Amino acid sequence: MAASCVAASELLNNIKQISALRPKASYAVRAVSTTSPQCHAQLPQRARSAPQQLVGVVGLEIHAQINSSTKLFSGAPVRFSAPPNSLVSFFDASLPGTLPVLNKRCVEAAVMTGLALNCAVNRKSLFDRKHYFYADLPAGYQITQQRLPIAVDGVLTYSLLGGKKRNQVMRKNVTIKQIQLEQDSGKSLHDDVRSQTLIDLNRAGVGLMELVMEPDMSCGEEAAAAVRELQLILQALGTCQGNMSEGQLRVDANVSVHRPGEPLGVRTEVKNINSIRYLARAIDYEIQRQIDVLQRGGTVQNETRAYDSKSGETLPMRDKEGLQDYRFMPEPNLPPLILYEDDASLPTGIDACQVVVVQKIKEGLPELPSVKRDRLVQTYGILPEHSFTLVNEDGLVDYFEAVLKATKKEPRKVIGWVTNELLGHLKQQDMSVCQSPISPSALAELLELQETGHISSSVAKQVFQEMWRSPGKTALQITQEQDLGLVSDTAQLHIICQKVVDSHPDEVHAIRSGNKKVLNKLMGLVQKETKGRADPVLVRAILQKKTS
Ligand code: ADP
Ligand code: MG
Repeated sequence: MAASCVAASELLNNIKQISALRPKASYAVRAVSTTSPQCHAQLPQRARSAPQQLVGVVGLEIHAQINSSTKLFSGAPVRFSAPPNSLVSFFDASLPGTLPVLNKRCVEAAVMTGLALNCAVNRKSLFDRKHYFYADLPAGYQITQQRLPIAVDGVLTYSLLGGKKRNQVMRKNVTIKQIQLEQDSGKSLHDDVRSQTLIDLNRAGVGLMELVMEPDMSCGEEAAAAVRELQLILQALGTCQGNMSEGQLRVDANVSVHRPGEPLGVRTEVKNINSIRYLARAIDYEIQRQIDVLQRGGTVQNETRAYDSKSGETLPMRDKEGLQDYRFMPEPNLPPLILYEDDASLPTGIDACQVVVVQKIKEGLPELPSVKRDRLVQTYGILPEHSFTLVNEDGLVDYFEAVLKATKKEPRKVIGWVTNELLGHLKQQDMSVCQSPISPSALAELLELQETGHISSSVAKQVFQEMWRSPGKTALQITQEQDLGLVSDTAQLHIICQKVVDSHPDEVHAIRSGNKKVLNKLMGLVQKETKGRADPVLVRAILQKKTS
């Protein structure tokens, strides 16, 4: 990858986008104006309030790449893994004389995200320059919203599965301090062979929403659940694709430890976390490391650390030593960003297409994951933990509802097939729901066969496996080909039942002395004889008679 990259000096020859020199008048939205021992969730009440116990404190800073076809202040396209420096406008490369043109779509995405996270959306927000000196930041500063961000004071509600069986849904809140719009930087690629650093500016200027959370969480598991919920919300809104491994969602974890009731401890900031699983591990490792340091009589340093997923450790990063002076200043080329409450509040002469109206975005908010889960529980009578499984898997709710449409089987019975059989098979082969070889209608047909008494439930599972192996074959075809239909020939069942009764005198004795549960064992034996095909209702009746 590095070899095909273009060195900084060659950059200007490679700029394909020559679009950013738009006159000021065309400003779009111008602003005319785990399981961790430290987790509170799992500690018994006594341990939680014990003053000597050190507990973790976690606050996340999350950068979400805005899902937009163009960058925050230029018309250059946004795409992942395009050839290096193929998506760079003059503005992105910071050529003198270029000016920022605010992308309306990015503002709408931030407003939508703010509304979905219960934030107060500021009718006026400001842009500032934050100075860094990195080769991948050609202007020498990033445009961000330091003084007055677009949204503040929100809440993200997320849930954890707790309790002994881990099936109790516990709701928790984390406060969103603010959401700010800012530019992404480019990427530096180090070519060790030629000992050069190469610069790719494709990402430079892509719109980001930075979400700053208050330090309300206490362990990796909570942070992981909160980020997963955020990811689902952003995906439902369509404001960010949320893929952590592609860097669309980047999470920095601030971690400290303290004794409850005492002031917060010194924090470290853990970076380089590219999956939710690693986020939980990195945080729990860091909490334990800090506890160990303090218990050995040491002090925690305020530093940036990187998570190494191979070793599972966090290690100090060398590049950010010392305090940075960002020399913040107002961005002189961008006026304040003004939003309007509703159409009625638009000043005369303002074109509604050129501005962002909060009310319109509110009306267009889609169903959020938490609402979807509640709806699924209420409409179908399924368990809350099943609603989590459904909503967590891309496409699974649609699949489930499509099966329901095609069968008379109760939703509560269908859910097990979808979350156990189907999802189990998909996970085993690392497949997504849309890749399933069994379509919703094919599964519905199988469940119908079972529901109408043509096959038993254990045979249904065999047929499912066969359908998985031979896509295209219907449940009925498989049942007929392999002669798996329910055996309801009473005479034949009588013979089999008699055989089982005769060869199990102890069980028969137990049933006769009142232990009716043992009948299930005999039923199981009959099913074994018939390879699961015997009509269970008939078998039960026959066995009951023979053991009475
Ligand atoms: P700064 O402006 O220095 O970045 P902030 O107060 O804005 O500091 O906090 C940045 C992030 O660090 C926030 O996500 C916040 O929740 C988190 N944070 C602040 N103090 C602590 C602490 N003692 N322990 C853990 N996280 C913290
Ligand atoms: Mg910060």
